[in-house]
Amino acid sequence: KHTLNIVLLLTLSAAIYPAIKAFRSHEKKIKRNGSLADLIGNTPLLRIKSLSEATGCEIYAKMELCNPGGSAKDRIALAIIEDFEKKGMIRRGKGDIIFEGTSGSTGISFAMLCKAFGYTAHICLPNDTSQDKLNLLKMYGAEIEKVKPASIVDPDQYVNAAKKGAKDIASSSSDINAVFADQFENDCNWKIHYSTTAPEIWEQVNHKLDYFITGSGTGGTLAGCSMFFKEKSSSIKSVLADPQGSGLFNRVKFGIMYDQVEREGTRRRHQVDTLVEGIGLNRITHNFAKGEPFIDDAERVLDEEALKMARYLNENEGLFLGSSSCVNAVAATRIALTKANKGDTIVFVACDSGTRHVSKFWKHALDYDYTSDLREVVNCK
Ligand code: PMP
Repeated sequence: KHTLNIVLLLTLSAAIYPAIKAFRSHEKKIKRNGSLADLIGNTPLLRIKSLSEATGCEIYAKMELCNPGGSAKDRIALAIIEDFEKKGMIRRGKGDIIFEGTSGSTGISFAMLCKAFGYTAHICLPNDTSQDKLNLLKMYGAEIEKVKPASIVDPDQYVNAAKKGAKDIASSSSDINAVFADQFENDCNWKIHYSTTAPEIWEQVNHKLDYFITGSGTGGTLAGCSMFFKEKSSSIKSVLADPQGSGLFNRVKFGIMYDQVEREGTRRRHQVDTLVEGIGLNRITHNFAKGEPFIDDAERVLDEEALKMARYLNENEGLFLGSSSCVNAVAATRIALTKANKGDTIVFVACDSGTRHVSKFWKHALDYDYTSDLREVVNCK
């Protein structure tokens, strides 16, 4: 009788278990009272077949462009908003304002989440920001304040303009709250990559990782991920992919950075020098400094290489990537060809898609003939 009971119990569990599992996955798909924010993170990892086969390494892209706002910046915008809310500094649906200074994707992520949560996004940006990004900000209903391109020491520079805007409202008698998101200095930035982006990658590669490669805008992605991976294993190497004109490459390779005067000069040159948006800097931000002890190496990437890589990945993989993603892909490939061992696992970040770069980066990419010679693409003859 005892055996019969066990058999019955087992049969019953075998019958019920798939039903419970199906119900759970159904629940996961339909989130009642959910929000756009539920779709942020858990992005896929894509094996890049053409790069892997040509190099003998396993090269993967962390597809951050699959976030609902189109970039990795959704993660930090959400983390920063939730932090302000936890501290009681902003309230949903009350018209409170989030100020940010950004020429990149962060503004778009804030604009999207502000709409979803009932805030106003006020975005300060240089007046030479690409039309593609301005259009997106407009569609998401952000307040846009254009300022002239300037060095960070200039009070009118876009980050400083955002800081001042929030301060002015906070010190007025208005009953609207205003905060300055401050992605460059805010600890929420590297922490969210430490607690979400990196652990996701770690699971996706089944705990086998040799190189992690990304560029640095605020430095948050590089810092959070590098710190996480170094804690997992000291043999995992973190590599900065840096566009031409940026000072971070020299800082990582030789420990030197430009002094203030040179910095301003190179910053100006940098703005006309590179077609790449979102990465490369000539100052050390808090988020970059946080990750600096965990960075092992740096690769400098020329615009020409990034443009050729854009065409290569489009032709071979059907990928339409943004400029910083292409810089990362060049660095990953060069590491695979010159420093890695055969079979090593290499992950780079695909930060955003080409749709935000049509009027600048991709316009130039189309001037380059497609070449199937990967060594030529990354200058590794
Ligand atoms: N790629 C793009 C398109 C970006 O907008 C940014 C951020 N400015 C980055 C990469 C770099 O990310 P992080 O700020 O975490 O260094």
